[in-house]
Amino acid sequence: MFALWLACFGLVAAQAWAVIQFDNRYYSPRNRERSVRKATSLIILHTTEAPSRSALRKLSDLGECHYCIDEGGRVYRIVDHRREAYHAGRSMWNGRANVDEFSVGIEVCGYHNKPLSAAQYRSLADLIGELKHIYKIPDHNVISHAHVAYGAPNKWHKRSHRGRKRCGMMFALPSVRNRLNLKSRPASDPDVKARRLVVGDAYLAQVLYSRGPAVVAAGPAAIAKPDDNVIVKGRSAWDIARDAYNDKTTLYTLPDGSKKFGNQIADFKQLPVGTRVTVRADVRENRLETYQVIGVNGKAQDIAGDEVRRFTTLYVRPDGKYVRGSQLSPEAVLKLPYGTKVLVGYSVGGPIAPNRLATAICGNRWRSPDTFFLIEGVLVPGNKVDDAKIPVGTMVFFKS
Ligand SMILES: [Zn+2]
Repeated sequence: MFALWLACFGLVAAQAWAVIQFDNRYYSPRNRERSVRKATSLIILHTTEAPSRSALRKLSDLGECHYCIDEGGRVYRIVDHRREAYHAGRSMWNGRANVDEFSVGIEVCGYHNKPLSAAQYRSLADLIGELKHIYKIPDHNVISHAHVAYGAPNKWHKRSHRGRKRCGMMFALPSVRNRLNLKSRPASDPDVKARRLVVGDAYLAQVLYSRGPAVVAAGPAAIAKPDDNVIVKGRSAWDIARDAYNDKTTLYTLPDGSKKFGNQIADFKQLPVGTRVTVRADVRENRLETYQVIGVNGKAQDIAGDEVRRFTTLYVRPDGKYVRGSQLSPEAVLKLPYGTKVLVGYSVGGPIAPNRLATAICGNRWRSPDTFFLIEGVLVPGNKVDDAKIPVGTMVFFKS
């Protein structure tokens, strides 16, 4: 009996493996520079918000996902599923930051509020099934990018908030999950519940977690909102462009016909009603976040919101000295000089010593472009640092 069971199980498993035909034409050149993950507890589903003809090239060039499924259901391998892909950006789930370090990321060529093709549903269900099997991942840990992405404070949100992205939002709908053989979904946001984050997008929270019959029964068509890229009362530039609001590629067309890019706008709250916001389709999934600068990006309060005096908010003054927000009085915050660099949601590691290298301090993240080394008063990003020449005593700032 046992042998029979084993034989059947083996057969089923073999079939499951054989279902997917991978296409390797967009296998990322970044593979060899990506570390092997130590753990895998989540599968993160994304929507490209762009057609495959532009999405695939970009995802491959940047190594931004493990798999991509095109409109016809073809599955492309981008990054080896055991290695790290940079797909989640600033992210957190259940108190653990940097979701890239413990997840597999799948991009589906489509939109966060539109139905997939039947072929996409089939391929995605097969791929998820295979990955769940390999990594022993329960259904409620197959979630969307919208579940895990969060934003640092900005002009609209005073605290770190969920809602930085709506990417993959419709994968939370029970009707969609059914088609992917996913029987459960997270009941609530663990990081909002623990007050690590606040809700930045009430509508998104409703789609992700509401148990009301309307949401449970809804198909993707029910959450499609056409023509929602015009600023009106109750819909801000952030609501439309999210973290790309101040990007140099995000175009604002004012009612008088004049045009400005996101990096040319000083006060987003002064944009008139009727302004159309166009986010470039091929903008990075997760904009590279770097430090912001007092005087250039606003006051400390504009940059760090209610987190100006947090332990995890770091200020690097023009003289090259750094201080934590928690070490400053409210008056001292106001006196931070023009040109002070601000990092929100960061840990401090170090100092670097002969027996304590960057990898021992922040693991794989040491060479990430949003990890910074304070070398002779200058913040040097991890991807620009020469690991053979990091001076002893250097401090490392990395996202926590
Ligand atoms: Zn995404």
